[in-house]
Amino acid sequence: MLSRSTKFGWQGLGVLLVGLTLLLVFPRSPHLQAVETVTGLPTLAESAVVAMVPTTLSNPNSPLDFTPTETFVAQTAPNYQPRQIMQLADPSNYGDRYSTDAYGQPTVNPFIAVMHETVGSAQSALNLFQTYHPNDNDQVSYHTLIGRDGTIYYIVPPEKRAYGAGNSVFNGPNGPETVTTNPAFPSSVNNFAYHVSLETPGDGRGNGPSHSGYTQAQYESLAWLLAQSSIPDSRITTHKAVDRSGSRQDPRSFDYNRFFTLLRRYPNRAGLS
Ligand SMILES: [Zn+2]
Repeated sequence: MLSRSTKFGWQGLGVLLVGLTLLLVFPRSPHLQAVETVTGLPTLAESAVVAMVPTTLSNPNSPLDFTPTETFVAQTAPNYQPRQIMQLADPSNYGDRYSTDAYGQPTVNPFIAVMHETVGSAQSALNLFQTYHPNDNDQVSYHTLIGRDGTIYYIVPPEKRAYGAGNSVFNGPNGPETVTTNPAFPSSVNNFAYHVSLETPGDGRGNGPSHSGYTQAQYESLAWLLAQSSIPDSRITTHKAVDRSGSRQDPRSFDYNRFFTLLRRYPNRAGLS
């Protein structure tokens, strides 16, 4: 039973000293500083089902509102409008992005986009993300998921850290990039990653090395989504490429040429190699 003591005796002083000592040894928020806004990532669609570009739907009163990126030039982009649905994850399945790591060092990594596949159905993945997960090891999410019909599901706000990759590193031009946000876990790319997943076709539900691949609508929507970011081509990567556990192969059967050809049709991608 917990009760609030009204007397402050020697016993209370002892408790206070122990408390102070514990605070010194285990500071409550070690060095992590949460990031509140981000630029250069796709924005969230605002309403449940959206058929227009997010910039026209921004609601200043919504806690989920984000400033559109300056690089978003949908007016001049190819004539493609994906169906968009908000299906936010339970907050237990994502966290803050931090401007410092667990040791107080500034995190300076530019964003990367990490592509995945669901293996199971989109609906089963969305159900998983909407489930409350109290245990760290069960917490998983992507920022967005793209269904077989090209529908974009917004799952985690872009300024938050989705739990898309565990033990992982991005091998950039200036060396390996990875961030420790919790010393109890291996470092990962999650702090600077934008995770987007493609729904796997029915013939890819197992652990086979390949499957029949993704639909044209999925490639179109993926290009449309990442065209709203300022992430350069060289920082668009895959779970397989960043994974250090040796167990991740996704997205299997992904056609890079097909995707980058579609992405480069967007004028705002010029210079983002
Ligand atoms: Zn993955």
